[in-house]
Amino acid sequence: MTTSIYAQIEPTRLARMIEISRDLNSTTDQKQLLSTIMNEARALTGAASASIMLLDPQTRELRFKAASHGMPDKLIDMPVPIEGSIAGAILRANEPMIIDDVTQDARWHSNIDEEIDFHTESILGVPMHDRDRPVGVLEAVNKLDGAFTQEDVEILAILADLAGVAIERARLIDALTRANQRLNELDELKTNFIAIASHELRTPLSIILGYVSFLRGNADPAMAEQFDSVLNAAVRLRGLIQDMLNLGYVDTGAQQLERQQVDLVRVITDVVNNRDGTSQAKQQTLRVALPSNPVHVAADRKMLELVLSNLLNNATKFTPAGGHIRVRLLERPDEAWIAIRDSGVGIPPDKLERIFDRFYQVEHPLTRQFEGMGLGLAIAKELVALHDGRIWAASEPGQGSEFFVALPLLNGAEPA
Ligand code: ADP
Repeated sequence: MTTSIYAQIEPTRLARMIEISRDLNSTTDQKQLLSTIMNEARALTGAASASIMLLDPQTRELRFKAASHGMPDKLIDMPVPIEGSIAGAILRANEPMIIDDVTQDARWHSNIDEEIDFHTESILGVPMHDRDRPVGVLEAVNKLDGAFTQEDVEILAILADLAGVAIERARLIDALTRANQRLNELDELKTNFIAIASHELRTPLSIILGYVSFLRGNADPAMAEQFDSVLNAAVRLRGLIQDMLNLGYVDTGAQQLERQQVDLVRVITDVVNNRDGTSQAKQQTLRVALPSNPVHVAADRKMLELVLSNLLNNATKFTPAGGHIRVRLLERPDEAWIAIRDSGVGIPPDKLERIFDRFYQVEHPLTRQFEGMGLGLAIAKELVALHDGRIWAASEPGQGSEFFVALPLLNGAEPA
């Protein structure tokens, strides 16, 4: 737009345009947006009615998407061919057009008027764009007093410019909302699948574990070794299924938490004492530094144990044989920090946050040498958040990693 165009428009109408622009920018609901545009198009040009036709990106047809009062709802979604129609001519020429008497125009088709029982006399139509792309046509219909003027053309063109961008934005937001909905549905499907699959796998696995343990007990030494391999594989499988089940706990949310006063010194000691034999088998050294006094937090003990054993198992898994692991409990103002450090493979700096996403693993799934499903840290993160705490990691790749869990201290107050 050049200054000369604005010069033809009364200042009060320009001021109104600024208000409309503000309105359009604050609306993302397509229906409401179209209705605002309609009413403003009618009011600004002194017309009896107005309508909007949008270009269907698939069929390349124009379709009525909104009409101001005086035109029935039946009109909505009626197609208008681009070839041989007034609106089509406006879109193709990319120029505003005034038709004072539609009956004199060869491109005028009375069939839509007949269908909706309306009487069109005059039309002022302007093309709408989103940047340079045509998106539709805005029409003011039946000037109430006299004929459409050049000023009407200019003001409707400005409105059409604002409308084009606002409509496209609303369309994008709509598409994003639908895509987001779809993602949520898929996420729910996946969660349900994991819950059902893990539940169903548990029973046959317990039978396998039971029978293999029994057979191993009665087997001769040569066979016992074979049974041990089966047993180890079944135990690993049980760990994977347990991760899937734990994800289900997390998804059911806070109502499952049973928070009580818990002494972190005792929880850490229990988790360390009850760990499996992998760390010993790998001849890793484990040092534990705990305060001599109890450190109380309000926690669901089982869930806290799950978080800590996930971190400890990871430290063992990602640290080579002969490596070092250190567990510390630090008292900070208002918080207790649990720090688990290892001398393992480490984590690249750009992955330090992503490792807490569900199913995320630093190694490529097809070439990875460590077993697991990428769920342990995601579960830990959600559980820690349910305890009003934080979890994060620091690492130097090749040197090792340290995971921290911060929990609010319970200062003699009753747990929430
Ligand atoms: P999983 O261990 O089953 O793959 P997690 O959610 O526990 O799943 O961990 C996600 C990823 O974070 C791991 O695959 C690994 O790449 C990285 N990771 C976790 N803990 C450590 C650690 N102590 N040292 C190095 N990498 C780790």
